[in-house]
Amino acid sequence: MTSPMTLLIENVHIAPVAGPEIPSGHIVVEGDRIAALGPGPAPLTPGARRVDGSGCLATPGLVNTHHHLYQWASQGLAQDATLFEWLVALYDVWAAMDAEVVRGAATAGLGWLALAGCTTSSDHHYVFPKGRGDLFAAGIEAAREIGVRFHPARGSMDRGRSHGGLPPDEVVEELDDVLAATAEAIDAHHDPSPSSMVRVAVAPCSPFSASARLMTESAALARARGVRLHTHLAETLDEDEHCVEQFGMRPVDYMDKLGWLGPDVWLAHAVHLSDGDIVKLARTGTGSAHCPSSNARLGAGIARVSEMLRQGANVGLGVDGSASSELTSLAGEMRQALLFQRARYGPRALSARQALELATLGGARNLGREAELGSLEPGKLADVVLWRTGGPFAAAVADPVCALVFGPPPPVALVLVGGRTVVEDGELRTTPHDAAGRAGADAHRRLTRLAAEHGFTAAREIHH
Ligand SMILES: [Zn+2]
Repeated sequence: MTSPMTLLIENVHIAPVAGPEIPSGHIVVEGDRIAALGPGPAPLTPGARRVDGSGCLATPGLVNTHHHLYQWASQGLAQDATLFEWLVALYDVWAAMDAEVVRGAATAGLGWLALAGCTTSSDHHYVFPKGRGDLFAAGIEAAREIGVRFHPARGSMDRGRSHGGLPPDEVVEELDDVLAATAEAIDAHHDPSPSSMVRVAVAPCSPFSASARLMTESAALARARGVRLHTHLAETLDEDEHCVEQFGMRPVDYMDKLGWLGPDVWLAHAVHLSDGDIVKLARTGTGSAHCPSSNARLGAGIARVSEMLRQGANVGLGVDGSASSELTSLAGEMRQALLFQRARYGPRALSARQALELATLGGARNLGREAELGSLEPGKLADVVLWRTGGPFAAAVADPVCALVFGPPPPVALVLVGGRTVVEDGELRTTPHDAAGRAGADAHRRLTRLAAEHGFTAAREIHH
């Protein structure tokens, strides 16, 4: 047996998220774990790889808890639409996608996230046109190629227009087909081990596109298999109205009635919450993925994040799909979250360090991985980012965490996932950098062609 590879990062400012910051210290990585960290130089370790972290800030890898990777292929459409208008315009485009589109979009999307310090990403995929290949596996293949941890959520919609839902009937599935495909996805891909690179979640899309029965049977399936539950909730006032009209209650109460609040559930958005809703989320341990750029792009509103945190509700961050956030990086969402909370509640609403915690430990909690991810601590997985907060054109700020969160994301010197180098000096090292970037444009061209064959043209887009 050879001992695991040792990597020493030295002369670095460490913001571990859990525990005190270390202004000039070292991190020891052995195999896929953090073995030690502390002030001053690392202990002498013959044969170890040494990285000089001078001018850098070390943080835990960022954890993205809401995304739709396939949407890389459909950016910039329905530019001035509300969520419901935007969805209605895009369902027709998405109906044309196949596994090749998903794979290309996911390769570019996950590469893009990794380049800005994201080491774990979820992906909520909920459009499965028939006979177009294994769309769910395509995302997982892309994650394996890029080298990030992946939490794909098998999404679903069974409530088409003819049943009072929003999506056209052509893009929804039959309930039994959804449950069978979801169980298959868990069997084929879910790895519950602590160092897991792939964990599957169960994720009916939203109250306005999934039936109550799909929601309750999905919850039963997820709980029987020990996997997590995810859905969109309380994103817009239109959704509020829809729920009151169709179910006689607002979204959080509806989820409560369906058994969909609990420590194994995280909700995307959670923008329009009452005081009582916030207490309910906190009391039940239900997490939320805050996606400020997407909420702003679609004019959805500003989530009550600082109030949720005060009540003890868990909040992580999400970039949301590339078609409603137009390629924001997760690092950029820390800044958006900070600015939005301050715009709404004043300058003490969210600090730089709280924003960093949302993007790391908050995300890890949403995914049920706070024991393994989200902070730099001995024994945790070595998912580490070195940000070049010092250097040419760097912010002239003494506090590197302020430089990371208050301004645009600084360049990335190194991204480790389980001790493996995924990004170095701003380039992907696991796969050819330029090819990964081109995969997104190729997916866009392919989807545009397939959608045109389905009769979608740009003339049907909504512009006000
Ligand atoms: Zn979403």
